[in-house]
Order: sequence, then C-alpha cells, then structure tokens
Amino acid sequence: MEQIIHQAPRYKTQFAAVFVHMVDPGKPGVGIHDTDQPEYFLLNTICSQLTAFSEPSSKEHLCFYQWSKQRYQSVRTIDPGDFLPRRWLGEYLSWSYEMLCQQAPDHLRMKHYQTEAVDIQSSRCGRERVILQDHTSILAEGVFLTTGHANIK
Ligand SMILES: Cc1cc2nc3c(=O)[nH]c(=O)nc-3n(C[C@H](O)[C@H](O)[C@H](O)COP(=O)(O)OP(=O)(O)OC[C@H]3O[C@@H](n4cnc5c(N)ncnc54)[C@H](O)[C@@H]3O)c2cc1C
Repeated sequence: MEQIIHQAPRYKTQFAAVFVHMVDPGKPGVGIHDTDQPEYFLLNTICSQLTAFSEPSSKEHLCFYQWSKQRYQSVRTIDPGDFLPRRWLGEYLSWSYEMLCQQAPDHLRMKHYQTEAVDIQSSRCGRERVILQDHTSILAEGVFLTTGHANIK
C-alpha cells in the first residue's frame, strides 16, 4: 500500500480516480502483530531493521526504532539493537497505515472492508471478482494477495 501511495502521482494523468479496496477482518495495518497480546512476547527482529516505509521521503516516515523512541522512551530506554514487544510493532503498523491513508492524494480512494475474502473469481470482462464473507463482491482490475502465512485455509 505504501508503494501504491508513493507511486500515485504517476497514474494521476491516466485515471481520474483509483480505488483501493483493502479487505482484512482485523484492524488495518496490524496484521499478525496483535496489539492485545502481552508485552513479554518479543519480536525476533531488532527494531532498527523494521520499517513500514521503503521510501524515506518524509521526516514523518519513522522507522520502528524511531517511532518506539518517540512513543515509549518515557517507559524504558530503547536502543537500535533491541528486540521490542510484538504488540508495539502492531501499534506502529496501525499508526503507519493511518498516516499513509491521510497522505494519500485525492485521486486515490481507499476503503477498508472489515471482513474476510473467501474467493477470487475471474470475470468474463477480464477483471477479478473478490468474494467477501457476506457474499457481496468487489470487481477489481488487479488483486494483491497479502495474506501472510498464519491460519490460511
Ligand atoms: C507468530 C508469528 C511471529 C512472527 N514474528 C516475526 C518477527 O518477530 N519478526 C519478523 O520480522 N517477522 C515475524 N513474523 C513474520 C511476519 O509474518 C512478517 O514479518 C509480517 O507480519 C508479514 O506481513 P504481512 O502483511 O505479509 O502478513 P501478516 O502480518 O500475517 O498479515 C496478513 C493479513 O492478512 C489477513 N488475511 C488473511 N487471510 C485473509 C482473508 N482471507 N481475507 C482477508 N484478510 C485476510 C490477516 O487478517 C492479516 O491481517 C512472524 C510471523 C508469525 C506467524
């Protein structure tokens, strides 16, 4: 999503509007790193190696280490080589999702569906139809599957 937003100025001339439909039953951005889990579950990656932003185009685009320092410095000292709580990464990813949505240009329209996608079917018109749990569907030019690798049926 970060790249879709970053590249948005390039397709402004091609399309009046681009719609991004994001399907996830959880809180957007968080993924596997549940924000309700206990603090003692730690990441197995050091904090300075994690970032939601591949293009450091803005000072606001903090990596996980910088964000943790801003958010939790008053609670404990944080070094670039620290293994921090998984819960914090979920919070960071949620924060970065919100920030990206706010920074999206007007011609990029984003919508989150808090549900599961249960199927993807090719339609006759060459598009993909993503079927949601409540049997409604989204017709799309393209689909990115980013389902991670936990609890996949
Ligand atoms: C238990 C565990 C611990 C991990 N710990 C670390 C770690 O410490 N450090 C590290 O770097 N990596 C870790 N990983 C790897 C981790 O998966 C990746 O770092 C990262 O979370 C992958 O991001 P993602 O967005 O691809 O997938 P995820 O974070 O797994 O997100 C996938 C999303 O897809 C959604 N989804 C799945 N199926 C559907 C569907 N049918 N319809 C709609 N939405 C769906 C889920 O709700 C979820 O929000 C861990 C993985 C697991 C399983």
